[in-house]
Amino acid sequence: MKRSARVYVAGGATLLGVALRERLRAAGFRNLVGEPPDEPDLTVAGQVEDFFSEARPEQVFFAAGKSGGIEWNRSRPAELMLDNMLATAHVVHAAYVHGVTKLLYLASSCSYPRLAPQPLRVESLLTGPLEPTNAAYATAKLAGWQLCAAYRQQHGIDFVTAIPANSFGPHDDFSSEGGHVIPALIRKAHEAKECGDVELTVWGTGTPRREFLYARDLADACLFVMEHYEGPGPINLGGGVDLSIAEVAEAVTDTVGFRGRLRFDASKPDGMPFKGLDASELLGMGWRPTTDFGAGLTETYTWFKQHVVKEDLRDVRTAV
Ligand code: GDP
Repeated sequence: MKRSARVYVAGGATLLGVALRERLRAAGFRNLVGEPPDEPDLTVAGQVEDFFSEARPEQVFFAAGKSGGIEWNRSRPAELMLDNMLATAHVVHAAYVHGVTKLLYLASSCSYPRLAPQPLRVESLLTGPLEPTNAAYATAKLAGWQLCAAYRQQHGIDFVTAIPANSFGPHDDFSSEGGHVIPALIRKAHEAKECGDVELTVWGTGTPRREFLYARDLADACLFVMEHYEGPGPINLGGGVDLSIAEVAEAVTDTVGFRGRLRFDASKPDGMPFKGLDASELLGMGWRPTTDFGAGLTETYTWFKQHVVKEDLRDVRTAV
């Protein structure tokens, strides 16, 4: 990729979108287009069309679409699915019409069948039923992959799909209901520490396993794939740490400094039992993550205190 290329990160304000824009700038890309707050509403076809005809991006990273943790997926499946389907259809089609030379579509590891063999290999996609708590979102992501593959097949263009491990980092959604496990537990542990609580509730049994990649490493993997991968099939973006939710909760409470005990609420859903990716293709190409899990957690907690906690305090003062 030429450093002067016009590059568009669709979903520039998402966890991955922010990390990608930072990574691209650090790599010397100086023509990022459509950066927040100037990004179009991707659910509106006309706005996407106008944006592509004016900004004329040459390369596109698709990190857009609403997403959330297990509770949002359970309670807002229609909203998540529709938002992702609209954003994907509009961006992929506009990218084709306006001659984008390469598009990297970020799918999701929840698109694997619930009980696919571990670690998850791309050959397992579409071979079994999805996890019910996130089936709607996962279906939209599968459709996004298939849409890119269809444009590739029909028009011979270089649209590729990557499937990232669970990610975390600054700029995530730290709300208790909407956030994924790491940001949600950071907030809960921080509030429990501040309130002097003796117990912290962790959803589910604590036994499910997830693979985590720090957002900065994931962004680095995306740039690597954009520059070095041209295959027709999806590629897994893994190589992170594989932990049980109980281990994640211990690591978060250590980082935050919450000294109470953990209580596992088995009335809450566990979601997929395992979600570790087989990243042998990416690792075989020479890519490696560089951020230690604990260091990533510490950076994330520091960001949370500097931004989210300060914002919350400002809101309270304004309300008073
Ligand atoms: P998933 O990877 O799509 O299942 O999404 P999440 O990151 O939301 O959840 C991962 C696992 O963490 C699930 O087994 C949840 O039940 C568990 N978990 C434990 N406590 C929490 C919490 O406070 N918030 C969230 N989102 N998940 C939690």
